[in-house]
Amino acid sequence: MSELSQRGSPLEGSVLVLNRFFMAIHVISVRRSLVLLYRDLAEVIDVENGQYMNYSFENWIELSHLMAEQPRPEDEVIHSVSFAIRVPRVLRLLDYDKVPKQTLRFNRRNLFARDDYTCQYCGDPFPLSQLSFDHVIPRSRGGATSWDNVVSCCLACNSRKGDRLPAEAGLKLLKKPVRPKQNPLLKLKLDNPKYESWRSFLSAGQFALEVSGE
Ligand SMILES: [Zn+2]
Repeated sequence: MSELSQRGSPLEGSVLVLNRFFMAIHVISVRRSLVLLYRDLAEVIDVENGQYMNYSFENWIELSHLMAEQPRPEDEVIHSVSFAIRVPRVLRLLDYDKVPKQTLRFNRRNLFARDDYTCQYCGDPFPLSQLSFDHVIPRSRGGATSWDNVVSCCLACNSRKGDRLPAEAGLKLLKKPVRPKQNPLLKLKLDNPKYESWRSFLSAGQFALEVSGE
């Protein structure tokens, strides 16, 4: 599918994955979801007016063609030379019945999303490329690399702070860093009307699932 892969295309979106029992277990890229669908490892679950419908790859292509004339506002369609396919939002794995342990990984993506891409010292928002992270209590003084001691930080504040405590550098934290209860990337997705249908499958405890893809 290399002819389809431009950046910013619908392929860069996300798809919620359910196990066989309709429990949300993961978020993957649209690209990956199409592979699973094409290999008959998964089916599309489409939610319309509160009704769930399931579609195999072939049925989904057929529906995509039928709906091409009257797309819904939230629909996105990927066109290739030989076919058009609506971007699925929810996929169900046909042979997978486990419920993976839901733990939110401590990594840069999740950390920056928790802090809303904002430097926690000066309060300004920054693009990813200009964000760094800071140990509030420096590692040299025994500070841990953990949710409650690491914050997003711009390069200027980072170099100003150096190997000191915030107060010693004349800096003040916007808020006390804590481990998020919900996956911050998932929360951001749910603010987008494109992913409205995910809500039906996410119970309160499932907000920690890992989000990969864009
Ligand atoms: Zn800053």
